[in-house]
Amino acid sequence: MSEIRNAAELISNSVHAIALTGAGISTDSGIPDFRSPDGLFAKYGYDITDIEAFRKSPYDFFKLASRLISKLENTKPNAGHKALAELEKMGKLEAVITQNIDNLHQKAGNKRVLELHGTYLSASCMNCRRKYSFEDVKELMKGFLPLCQSCFGIVKPDVIFFGETLPPHVFEEAELLAGSSDLIIVAGSSLEVFPASEIPSMTKRNDGKIILVNATPTVLDGEADIVCRGNTSEVLKRIVTLARKR
Ligand code: NAD
Repeated sequence: MSEIRNAAELISNSVHAIALTGAGISTDSGIPDFRSPDGLFAKYGYDITDIEAFRKSPYDFFKLASRLISKLENTKPNAGHKALAELEKMGKLEAVITQNIDNLHQKAGNKRVLELHGTYLSASCMNCRRKYSFEDVKELMKGFLPLCQSCFGIVKPDVIFFGETLPPHVFEEAELLAGSSDLIIVAGSSLEVFPASEIPSMTKRNDGKIILVNATPTVLDGEADIVCRGNTSEVLKRIVTLARKR
């Protein structure tokens, strides 16, 4: 596949490369994405991550979340995550900007991970903002609803729901990185979620290149320099193996 060879060459020639990842990079670890036919939207509807729906009926979310959280805890990174960690070790990847909340890039060994949509590993009271660790959350979730020990507000995992704003400092850091990088590897994202979807164009405006790895077409295909249509685990592993030999 000439795209794989060309992608490895772009990586070898780059000085400031970053990656932007989405739910598709984690499906091979057993975590469903949102928009695939067997994804979370098809199974549970759009409301599962909508902040207004959550406010109306938090119990519906926590019924699902208690199952997902114990699954997430035991999930392992796959070859796609490991390939990006390897690139960082080789000194060829400055950071991973991720829309995922699953902690799998960190488990694979990446040191600089910008979590645009937060993490399931901590939680905050929606009323008084008291912070809770993951161990606390697991304990609180044994009840009907996780309630704050200070004010009895609802304790919500620190993941960004649709309708909420992104943590500003994280997005600003991502913008700075994307605007000063000469290459961005976009893997496993439909690029339908704003503002993460804007990040690759920031690199393009810096005269940077885009490598896109995804199973299905995206709105960025026309703008990308290289499109690798396929499975993120297989494609990223092959690209990094070739890049290492160069
Ligand atoms: P998305 O569901 O919109 O898109 C996923 C894309 O990945 C799709 O285009 C799909 O065709 C592709 N894909 C799925 N499996 C793949 C594979 N093995 N190889 C290659 N491509 C594959 O996800 P998104 O773009 O990340 O945006 C939606 C939101 O999903 C994000 O806000 C994120 O927070 C949230 N999300 C995260 C997780 C997670 O943390 N693992 C899981 C579900 C949803």
